[in-house]
Amino acid sequence: MKPTQPELDRATWADADRAWRELEAGNRRWVAGELQNVGFAPPSAAEDDQAPFAAILSCSDSRTPVELIFDRGIGDIFTVRVAGNAAHTSGVGSLEYGVAHLGIPLVVVLGHTGCGAVAAAVDQTPVDGAIARIVAPIAAAAEHAREHHDGDADALLDFAIEANVFQAMADLIRRSAIIRDRLYDRRIKLVGAVYDLHTGWVRLLGAHPQQDTLLTHQAAD
Ligand SMILES: [Zn+2]
Repeated sequence: MKPTQPELDRATWADADRAWRELEAGNRRWVAGELQNVGFAPPSAAEDDQAPFAAILSCSDSRTPVELIFDRGIGDIFTVRVAGNAAHTSGVGSLEYGVAHLGIPLVVVLGHTGCGAVAAAVDQTPVDGAIARIVAPIAAAAEHAREHHDGDADALLDFAIEANVFQAMADLIRRSAIIRDRLYDRRIKLVGAVYDLHTGWVRLLGAHPQQDTLLTHQAAD
């Protein structure tokens, strides 16, 4: 069932919570192999206006198809995909459009296990061309992970993947007054999550641990 779309730009925390429960339920179906939306409707059945209930910033990795992971159909999820799920300008703008013009109550930053972009940043692998600009925002998360984690390489990567989700969330808050205002007014929720490539489960990380500070600090700027 699709959550009722809030009146445009009148989303509330309750709408955001309903949206997350729908995603969670879809992820359970994905793990259980009981997909309900595999058929998708033909193009002629598409509605004239889109009314997605969640926006997701996720990685371009071919093993993380967002609609399948959450078992949702066409028109349900407003998706931004970029290597390493970082909050670049085009992604920030797209998410702003989603919350301000489509009334989406929930924004999810979705990382995933075994992320090559995060691994490259952790290992400080030299990269060419525009790939360097893709990896740059992930570098701070990778550095944080190297400084605060002394486990083995796999554990370090897992830690860095979570740190990178929180980094993208913080970048979103810092760069977007549109998102900030709606978080501050409790009209939308911004949560992080990590998709496990092997089990299929999406693990909720929740809101950014310093969200209130980030909002207060930015508001004072
Ligand atoms: Zn990735």
